[in-house]
Amino acid sequence: MVTKETTVPFFEMGPIRPPSEAHSLLIRVTRNCPWNRCQFCRTYKGQKFQLRTVDEIKQDIKTAKTIQDGIKELSWQFGYGGKLREAARMVLNNPFNEAYYNIALWLYAGGESAFLQDANTLIMKTSELVEVIRFLKKTLPSINRITSYARSKTAAKKTLDELIELKNAGLSRLHIGLESGYDPLLQYMDKGVTAAEHIAAGKKVVASGISLCEYVILGLGGKVMWQEHATETARVLNKINPDFIRVRTLSVTNQMPLYSEIENGNFVRATDEEIVKEEKLLIEKLECHSHFVSDHITNLLQEIEGGLPQDKEKMLASIDRFQSLSPEERQNFIVGRRVGIYRQLDDLSDSRQHERVEQVIRQLSQGDNHVEEKTIYTLMESFI
Ligand code: SF4
Repeated sequence: MVTKETTVPFFEMGPIRPPSEAHSLLIRVTRNCPWNRCQFCRTYKGQKFQLRTVDEIKQDIKTAKTIQDGIKELSWQFGYGGKLREAARMVLNNPFNEAYYNIALWLYAGGESAFLQDANTLIMKTSELVEVIRFLKKTLPSINRITSYARSKTAAKKTLDELIELKNAGLSRLHIGLESGYDPLLQYMDKGVTAAEHIAAGKKVVASGISLCEYVILGLGGKVMWQEHATETARVLNKINPDFIRVRTLSVTNQMPLYSEIENGNFVRATDEEIVKEEKLLIEKLECHSHFVSDHITNLLQEIEGGLPQDKEKMLASIDRFQSLSPEERQNFIVGRRVGIYRQLDDLSDSRQHERVEQVIRQLSQGDNHVEEKTIYTLMESFI
């Protein structure tokens, strides 16, 4: 990537967005996380939370438009007749800076979606956020979908009228980290929110008409609290009835406070097989009308996806299929997934891939063909 030059337009972007917003225009409306204490999170550790002024954000939106117009111009210059997709592809191959890359990716995907960063956009005054959303839509009218992250604690404090105002301004979806519905676990992880607040916030967002995606962390209960984690999370989700439930699997790095809890033995991680058992219990207990998604790279069984309640049996059948494998085949699948050879259970029947995984197992084991859990965690964490 060409490095940033002062004369080249540039706007600020935060570090993350949900997987489903990979092609969205990224507009940073606040910096970092105002809570920043969750034990399992490393994203903003060491960074101070800051609100940005509406003027600052508007300036970034104007810069995004300047870059978009420049790409349009390129399209004419290179004989694409103003077609943005082709010009965007050229820019993607050699972007001037990260902002160009983001705009080109966004235009390549159709230029319809924007994601407001960072961790808790709802913390802005509602009137200011409404102003930003309206300005964004007016300046870049191809945008018809605007989404953002929010904390339940903050969403619970907004009135229903405020959320409706945001919805009417153009806020289409909120992504909320539920993580768990089990109060002792939420407290232990220092999530700063209770199950009751999760429910109050979620129900209010749903009532406002803003689409809601709730994130759950599989394995968050470890070996001790997995059962309560699964059942209470399902109970909370059933009360909220979000549009989407997205699961990802606990992964731990040494930038997270949870790392030292594991090192000193206070938290014992669940194995992949135990997490599958937990996921089965969670799905069995879900009685909501939500779309369940497990597309995150950390999830062992990414194929578990579908609409609830109609696809519940299909999703549970994938789990049964994994659990009915012999211990050797389960290990083969786990290692194959964690080194990136397999994508789904069907891949087990590919004899070439299967043999490659067996070779990896021989390399990773101490001659007994058994791969330690610690090694599996390290392999998984190499993806994040
Ligand atoms: S609220 Fe979200 S971003 Fe903030 S520390 Fe917790 S998980 Fe991380």
